[in-house]
Amino acid sequence: MADGIQVPNCDRCDKPSVLFQRYSGRSLCNKHLIDSVHKRFAKELRKQLELPKSGGETTILVAISGGKDSALLLDRLVRILGPRKDVKLVAGCVDEGIDGYRSPSMDCARQLAENLEIPFETVSYPELGFERMDTVVDRLPVIRQNHSETRGMAPCSFCGVFRRQGLNRLAERVGADVMALGHNLDDMAQTVLMNMQKGDLERTLRLAPHTDAPLEGLAPRIVPMRWIPEQEVHASAMALGLSFFHDECPHAPGALRQRNRELVSRLEEDVPGSRHGLVHMVDAVKELEKKAKMAGVDDIRPTLPTPCPICGSPTSGDICKACEFTAMVNDAAQ
Ligand code: SF4
Ligand SMILES: [Zn+2]
Ligand SMILES: [Zn+2]
Repeated sequence: MADGIQVPNCDRCDKPSVLFQRYSGRSLCNKHLIDSVHKRFAKELRKQLELPKSGGETTILVAISGGKDSALLLDRLVRILGPRKDVKLVAGCVDEGIDGYRSPSMDCARQLAENLEIPFETVSYPELGFERMDTVVDRLPVIRQNHSETRGMAPCSFCGVFRRQGLNRLAERVGADVMALGHNLDDMAQTVLMNMQKGDLERTLRLAPHTDAPLEGLAPRIVPMRWIPEQEVHASAMALGLSFFHDECPHAPGALRQRNRELVSRLEEDVPGSRHGLVHMVDAVKELEKKAKMAGVDDIRPTLPTPCPICGSPTSGDICKACEFTAMVNDAAQ
């Protein structure tokens, strides 16, 4: 009982529940929530992570940010894979250069890796040849003036492209065979919706996990939390006592993802299970592509990625987005 409100008991034991899963109709206490999240995580990890049977060490770069999602990701990976001699986990964090946000969240990320005794690597935007995000944001009004195609773009459009390069650089540095990302069910559903809004089939087909179809030259991504809703990730990270950074990036408001976050949660409220449906849809589309390929149809993808002539990253355009954005940011300084 709290403030006269009856808290329902857990469906598995007689403890008070901390969370109601609307899509399944179950109420769960802390312990059973952690069990349930762990089970889904481990099952999905088994599906996505193929370790060579012939031995040899597999290095996994675990992308962490200091936030709850990647904290749970690293904690569970250490728990499941930590005892294995044939797996090496390395945590990696990209420093985007955002005052008041990145430094404390980076401290959280470093602390978490230290607590779990996992090596910790970082790379900053200037080390990658990009401006700090705070500088990019300062130059955005000029960039928008000079390039009409950027007018609807929020800082995250630039940041996401640069961060991907940062993670690839870290993966290269540590010799990663696989990269683990902490995307939860809400993130995945938002991404699916955003790609559909843009009619971007190529990105839809490229969405992680990449177990079946690794992208040329890049460590395949795994996303073992993709079926776990954000609320459950948050509650589990709290229940496990993981330390994570709570504040949001100051450049986040206004991004397309923020608007999609609202859309997805409204959809879910209207029709529980919508998030699962969106992600299942992409799996079905990827499966169709696989079947078509097996049947000899190999021109489904509009454009196959080729190396960017400036930096060598795979791109489906003339140059990659990171190089295109870098040129815009540099021009805006003059
Ligand atoms: S919210 Fe946007 S700008 Fe901030 S770190 Fe994330 S992607 Fe970068
Ligand atoms: Zn219980
Ligand atoms: Zn490039």
